[in-house]
Order: sequence, then C-alpha cells, then structure tokens
Amino acid sequence: MTKDSLCPCGSGAAFSVCCQPVLDNHRMAVTAEMLMRSRYTAFVLRHAQHIQSSWHIRTRPKNLNFDDHPVVWLGLQIHSCSKGQESDNDGTVDFTCRYLEQGQFCKLHERSQFLQEDGLWYYLQGECQVTKEKIVRNSSCPCGSGQKFKRCCLAK
Ligand SMILES: [Zn+2]
Ligand SMILES: [Zn+2]
Repeated sequence: MTKDSLCPCGSGAAFSVCCQPVLDNHRMAVTAEMLMRSRYTAFVLRHAQHIQSSWHIRTRPKNLNFDDHPVVWLGLQIHSCSKGQESDNDGTVDFTCRYLEQGQFCKLHERSQFLQEDGLWYYLQGECQVTKEKIVRNSSCPCGSGQKFKRCCLAK
C-alpha cells in the first residue's frame, strides 16, 4: 500500500485519508460507518491490533488467528446506516462484503451494531447471513482481474 493507493474499503478515497488515520488512531472514527470501514480494511491488511481494540470488550474474541481462515477479500458495500453519528450512542450498519474462502465465492450480509463510549466507537455484534458459491476453475475470477480463477485468486 502506498500513500495514494485506493482504500481497500471501497470508499473511492485514498487510503492515507480514509482508513489509515483510523487504523493509526481509533479516535479518528467519528461515525459507526467509519469504524466499520476501518475494520474491514483491518481484516484486508491483517491489522489485528485495530480489529481487537475496536471490538467491544463484551464480545471481543481472545485471539484472532488469520491463518485459520485464509481469505481473499473482494470488496465492501455499505447499504445503509441508522444512527451511528457523532452525537449518537449507538448505531447499526448494514453491509455486504465479498471474499473467497477455500475456492468458494462468499457473500456475507451483516447488520452490525456499534456502541459509542467515551468518544470511541466499538463493534458490538452482528446478525449475518453467508451465501457461498463454488467457482469453476476456468471461469473468470470474481475479483474482476479478467484472469481465469485458477490462475488468479485460487492460486493465492
Ligand atoms: Zn477506507
Ligand atoms: Zn482474482
């Protein structure tokens, strides 16, 4: 990632002005949506520290082991947010993220709940639904590279 790379969260902004400031400083997420985006980006970049520290203490897992779940992240789409603004104490973000896991194309649709405490947003919990699709090895890769799946993300 360079300073001008597009942010993995799909906002269309440069990483250096989008999720990077939040990864560096939790306080920079002033809305639930900004925290949500930064957490997605943290999963893409395997930034365990931000994922853990932005997880509410009540539901935070003890360990994060990325190697248990090798995935290739393909994108985030935010559908809607309710509350989650600077002046709110809680908020919900409805989103879909797409990824590859063990040769399957997965779509995770989640409604995540966030809480704001002492000026910091935290992820509390979510209700999610995952749909999985087998990808034919010779079909074009769902990441949009234009290459065959077997030569692209399946080989990663
Ligand atoms: Zn971002
Ligand atoms: Zn690919």
